[in-house]
Amino acid sequence: MKRVTFIGGGSAALISSILIKQRDPSIDVFIIEKDKKLGRKLAMTGGGKCNMAPMDDDILAYNLESHDLLKDLYHDINLDSYFTYLSEVGIETKTIKDYGYYPTHESAPQLVKNLTHRVRKLGIHVINDELVDIEIVNHNPSLYKLICKDSTYESEYVVFATGGMNDKMVAILEKLDIYLDGFHNGLCPIKLKENVSNLFGCRFMANVTLKENGKPYKKYFGEVQFKKDGLSGIPILNLSSDILRRFYNDSSLYPQIEKPISGCLDDFEIIVGLPEKYFNDISKKGYGVQSKDFLMKYFKEEYVDYLLCKHNVNPQEIVTSKNELVLSQMMLKESFHVDSFYGQEFSQVTVGGIPLINITKDFENKHIQNTYFVGEMLNVDGYCGGYNLRFTITSSIKCALSILKR
Ligand SMILES: Cc1cc2nc3c(=O)[nH]c(=O)nc-3n(C[C@H](O)[C@H](O)[C@H](O)COP(=O)(O)OP(=O)(O)OC[C@H]3O[C@@H](n4cnc5c(N)ncnc54)[C@H](O)[C@@H]3O)c2cc1C
Repeated sequence: MKRVTFIGGGSAALISSILIKQRDPSIDVFIIEKDKKLGRKLAMTGGGKCNMAPMDDDILAYNLESHDLLKDLYHDINLDSYFTYLSEVGIETKTIKDYGYYPTHESAPQLVKNLTHRVRKLGIHVINDELVDIEIVNHNPSLYKLICKDSTYESEYVVFATGGMNDKMVAILEKLDIYLDGFHNGLCPIKLKENVSNLFGCRFMANVTLKENGKPYKKYFGEVQFKKDGLSGIPILNLSSDILRRFYNDSSLYPQIEKPISGCLDDFEIIVGLPEKYFNDISKKGYGVQSKDFLMKYFKEEYVDYLLCKHNVNPQEIVTSKNELVLSQMMLKESFHVDSFYGQEFSQVTVGGIPLINITKDFENKHIQNTYFVGEMLNVDGYCGGYNLRFTITSSIKCALSILKR
């Protein structure tokens, strides 16, 4: 009996294992998951709703060494066939306009429950243990010894689906001669040099611009939220990945990625503010009004006090054509400076990971037969908005189809 073992029981493993077992019940399928529960990360996605795909496949929303791999993947499994495969494993989806595709019940925990239920019903073996080492028992036909903390298994096929990279996985991968170019937490809140402790909880819809050496580099619109020492919200998460990608894509910056990035971030500035159209409000609705009273129409008092103090403006100062530029700076172009990034527990993806040069279009290792790598552990990361699950799940479907063909 052919045995396939998934290392890691997240979104990639759940969907791929179900697809394999449903299509060929004669295959013995195992999932080794170090957590007590399967799909822990999947259950947190999309603010609890799980954004499974963007409205359209935008290849440029991804950071990876070769966009060709993604083009081929999304050509072979376009959005329509992606939803057909999801339906086959029991996931029905719907669109939420402008945001993307979600499970019909709009519940990420429910999605995990459904998938876990199906895994058990199909007789997929779930082992709650952590892989710590791997040995190649035989090359052709392939046979692997999977050494976990509490037990050891043998398997003809191994699918690595361990998600966000960590040092333990790096050591295991080195045994297979797979070396990483480095990795860092991405899509994470940003710590600021400014003291924003009083602004905790302030949020508003903002234009957000990332400047590098004074030049605009990326722009977004969306809700920003202050944390006690930094900024969060979808535009900020995207910016964090933009900054990290700069380190990966520019070889002169690249060596610094290995070290804590703080200290290398002085070139980056984040400009936050209301859309430009609000400039007109200053003359229309602001002239003759005290500065604080006017700003409080747009922002929470804590943020207004922060702005007035930072720009040395008396709260009672009357708005006139003479001071409107200072006011517009505060409303539309407030500047913040990047200190560092929040850690892994706040991060949605890993920037960096297994270089794609190691894998085939079926996500199989080019040099070691019948080992596959899928999902977030690969050096592919997308922006917020369903891009990451779309890639993770599609890579795992491609891998399942390849195993089924053997
Ligand atoms: C808060 C949050 C919200 C998100 N929202 C979205 C969203 O709405 N849309 C979107 O597209 N993406 C979203 N993402 C990203 C998305 O969740 C990931 O891209 C996706 O879950 C990656 O799936 P994976 O199967 O590759 O890895 P994971 O889901 O991380 O699964 C990997 C599993 O492997 C296990 N594991 C690791 N090492 C070992 C080992 N040595 N032995 C055994 N088991 C091991 C881990 O415990 C884990 O369960 C979000 C992420 C977070 C954190």
